[in-house]
Amino acid sequence: MTSDAPSGRPDPTAEVVDLCRDLLRIDTTNTGDNDTSVGERRAAEYVAEKLAEVGVESVLRESAPGRANVVARIPGTDPSRGALLVHGHLDVVPADADEWSVHPFSGELRDGYLWGRGAIDMKDFDAMVLAVVRHWQRTGVRPPRDIVLAYTADEEAGSDYGARFLVERHRELFDGCTEAIGEVGGFSYSVNDSQRLYLIETAEKGIDWLRLHAKGRPGHGSMVHDDNAVTALAEAVARVGRHRFPVVVTDTVRAFLEEVSDLLGVELDPEDPETAIAKLGPIANIIGATIRNTANPTRLNAGYKDNVIPGRATATIDCRSLPGQSELLERQLRELVGPDIAIEYIQRQPALETTFDGDLVEAMSAALRAEDPGARPVPYMLSGGTDAKAFSQLGIRCFGFAPLRLPADLNFSALFHGIDERVPVDGLQFGVRVLDRFLRTC
Ligand SMILES: [Zn+2]
Repeated sequence: MTSDAPSGRPDPTAEVVDLCRDLLRIDTTNTGDNDTSVGERRAAEYVAEKLAEVGVESVLRESAPGRANVVARIPGTDPSRGALLVHGHLDVVPADADEWSVHPFSGELRDGYLWGRGAIDMKDFDAMVLAVVRHWQRTGVRPPRDIVLAYTADEEAGSDYGARFLVERHRELFDGCTEAIGEVGGFSYSVNDSQRLYLIETAEKGIDWLRLHAKGRPGHGSMVHDDNAVTALAEAVARVGRHRFPVVVTDTVRAFLEEVSDLLGVELDPEDPETAIAKLGPIANIIGATIRNTANPTRLNAGYKDNVIPGRATATIDCRSLPGQSELLERQLRELVGPDIAIEYIQRQPALETTFDGDLVEAMSAALRAEDPGARPVPYMLSGGTDAKAFSQLGIRCFGFAPLRLPADLNFSALFHGIDERVPVDGLQFGVRVLDRFLRTC
C-alpha cells in the first residue's frame, strides 16, 4: 500500500518510520565473532524484499553463514555518467538492555524519537534510502545517473565480512561507480536559532592499530632483576599514552574551522586552533581528534603467575593517523618506544581526504539549503573509520552524507554506540526529503 500525504500527493517520507522501526527490531548485533553475531541475513533479506516489492532486483552475497550483504542498481537516465554508490551498514554494536530506558531492539516510538540500537548508526539512513527508492519506483522517478545501493554486514568490526568482502570478491557490482555517499556526515549542529552547520564528511583518519612487544629475561619474582619485560613495556606504553602529537591542520579541518569561526565570531589563530575548537561544545571532541595523530593504549598482556617474571609482554595501541601521516606516525612511535620494543601492525587502513567542491558537493549543499534555509554545509574530518575505506580502494570518491536535522540540545556524538540511541522522527523525515532532492540532482 502506498501511503499518501493528506494532499493526496505521494509523500516520500510516508514510510520511513515504519521501515526504520522494522530494521531496528531485527537484532543485528555484531560482536566481532561469526559464532555470536546475529541477524544480518534477516536484515538483508528484509531490504531485498522491500526492494523487490517495488520492482528493484537485488543480489544477496554472503561472506560467511549469516553474514549477508545486499546490492542493487537503479538505472539512471544517462548511462554515460559514472554511477553513485549509496552505502549503509546493517550491523550494530552490542547493547545491554539493562542500561537502556527502552529495550534496545524494540524500535519504540516515544517523545518524538524512534529508539533503538542502530537508530543513528545507521539504520536511519538505511531506511531513508529505502523510502526514497520505493517512492521513486511507485511514481516513476528515474535518477540522472545509475545509483548502486549497498547494504553491508560487519562495518562495526572492520568490514571484513561486509564492504571489504564485496570489494575483494564482487567488485563487478560496483562497475562504473565514481562517487559514494554513506555515514558519518550530513547531520546538523546548531550555531543559533537561525543557523545550522551541516557537517559533510570529506576526510577520515587512518586506522593504525599496533602491538608492542617487549622481551626480557624470565626469572623468579623474588630476585634482583634488571631485564624485566613488564617494566620495559610499561615504560614504553606510558610514554606513548602521555605523548601529545603535534598539531597539523589539514585542508579539510582548516575549511571547517574558518567557517565555524566566522559563524561564531571567534578569532581563529592558525597556530592555536585548539582555543577555537574548545568553544564548539559537544562537537569539540569530534573535531579535536582531527588536528593531530593520536595513540591510545587499549590492552596489556603479560605474565601467568604472581611470582614469575615473564619473558614477554605485549600491549595494543589504537593509533589514528591524519591523511598522509601514517609513515610519519610510525617513525614517531618508533622513537617513543625505543629500540628494544618491537612494533607489529595488526590493522592498517589508510586515511581518506577529498576536496569540498564539484557538482556532487553542490547538489548536497543545495538539497540541504532547500529544506533548511539556515543550513551552512561544511566539510569535516571523521576521526573514526567507515566502509568508505573499503570502497575508496575501487577509486571511488567517498563522502559521509546521511542528512539529519537534529534538535539543538541533542548531544548527537554521545549517541553513537551509546545508551538510549535514538533518532528524532522529524529529523528522519527531513533526511528523506533532502536525499530525495539530492539523488534527483546527483
Ligand atoms: Zn556506523
